[in-house]
Amino acid sequence: MRKQYDVAIVGAGLAGLQVARVLGARGLRVLLLDRKTSLAAPVYTTGIFVRKTWEDFPLPAEQLGAPIRDVFLYSPSQRRIQLTADHDEFRIGRMQWIYLSMLESCSRAGVHWLPGSRVVQCAPGNIAVARNNKIENLEVRFVIGADGARSIVARQLGLDRNVDFLVGLEVIVASRSQPALHCFLDPRIAPGYIAWVAADGDTAHVGVAGYPGRFNPASALDVFRMRVKHLAGDRVIERRGGMIPVNGILRNIACDRGLLVGDAAGAVSPLTAGGLDGAMRLSSFAADVTAAYLASGDVSILREYDGARFQARFVARRWMRTMLRVCTHPAIAEAVFTAMRTPMLLALARHIFFSRGSFPDLSSDHLMFARNHSANAG
Ligand SMILES: Cc1cc2nc3c(=O)[nH]c(=O)nc-3n(C[C@H](O)[C@H](O)[C@H](O)COP(=O)(O)OP(=O)(O)OC[C@H]3O[C@@H](n4cnc5c(N)ncnc54)[C@H](O)[C@@H]3O)c2cc1C
Repeated sequence: MRKQYDVAIVGAGLAGLQVARVLGARGLRVLLLDRKTSLAAPVYTTGIFVRKTWEDFPLPAEQLGAPIRDVFLYSPSQRRIQLTADHDEFRIGRMQWIYLSMLESCSRAGVHWLPGSRVVQCAPGNIAVARNNKIENLEVRFVIGADGARSIVARQLGLDRNVDFLVGLEVIVASRSQPALHCFLDPRIAPGYIAWVAADGDTAHVGVAGYPGRFNPASALDVFRMRVKHLAGDRVIERRGGMIPVNGILRNIACDRGLLVGDAAGAVSPLTAGGLDGAMRLSSFAADVTAAYLASGDVSILREYDGARFQARFVARRWMRTMLRVCTHPAIAEAVFTAMRTPMLLALARHIFFSRGSFPDLSSDHLMFARNHSANAG
């Protein structure tokens, strides 16, 4: 007999793993697949977690690096501002181990894991998977697209797709620098975003990101590494990179055949380009919606999973992203930096780095949803 799954989750990044472990724990027949043969490589993220994520979700604490409170901002001419938080605000995750630990929770919850499996088509009631040089068709009632910035599931289900991207590239090097985030505003090496050194006392992630077409990430990274030699060593341990959607959450992210989570849903802060918190939060909500929908078959439940509801909370961040996009000349960046020394803009910078606002807190939506659908979700 062919096995039928309640849910196929396409992509085992943070978003897919989170939704899989919650749905598995609810007793659904869950299939989790990824085109990668191992979750240990490649990794697409720096892995900087903000405090609210490790406070609200069960991440393995031993795989989070030393706490970080200090943020240094640099102008194109290397002028510097230091911001120090009152609490531990950031920790750099050892992502390979975090993914593997979450996968273990998924297995304990009965999730069926299929690595080395690339989804190529989603038809009503089944998905086609390229695996071991063959195409297999698997019967599934519902598909969750956790397949990243350029989601094939979004395309196959006719849902909204990301249109605005940054491209990021980094190396991890051995470094004994004090735990801190160093953020460099310089449109020559990071047009529309920043270059960074994220140090946790053992290693440093040295990276650049910006609008594709406006720079060459590999050469920009070389230039930047020379500039920050005093902060980060030469010995490269790993290289990472990928596309970051910065359009804000998409509107149309669910239909009767499936829904989107994480980068596939655009759940990334358009300003900071942080998506790990959004991946965890939106996936938890998506799991509730999916469980309630599959229990009742009531399509109206899916209307609760509407990106338009969260879009209003992204307005300020989208506006600031536009400011970053038009900051194309080092002289403009230098002027912005000078303005940032005023108390009002310093307070804004502290708010951006240290407040709990990287992704909307969905707990009230969650609570309301659970109240309305508690009978079905059981
Ligand atoms: C260079 C870089 C640095 C970043 N740094 C940070 C940071 O420090 N902090 C932060 O909060 N955010 C950061 N982000 C953003 C953050 O990494 C993402 O928002 C987050 O990882 C998204 O998780 P996800 O699970 O949605 O997608 P992903 O982690 O991209 O996972 C998608 C998975 O789907 C799989 N897949 C894709 N297509 C298919 C298919 N057809 N079939 C099967 N599997 C498929 C992929 O192999 C992949 O494993 C960074 C992004 C980049 C690119």
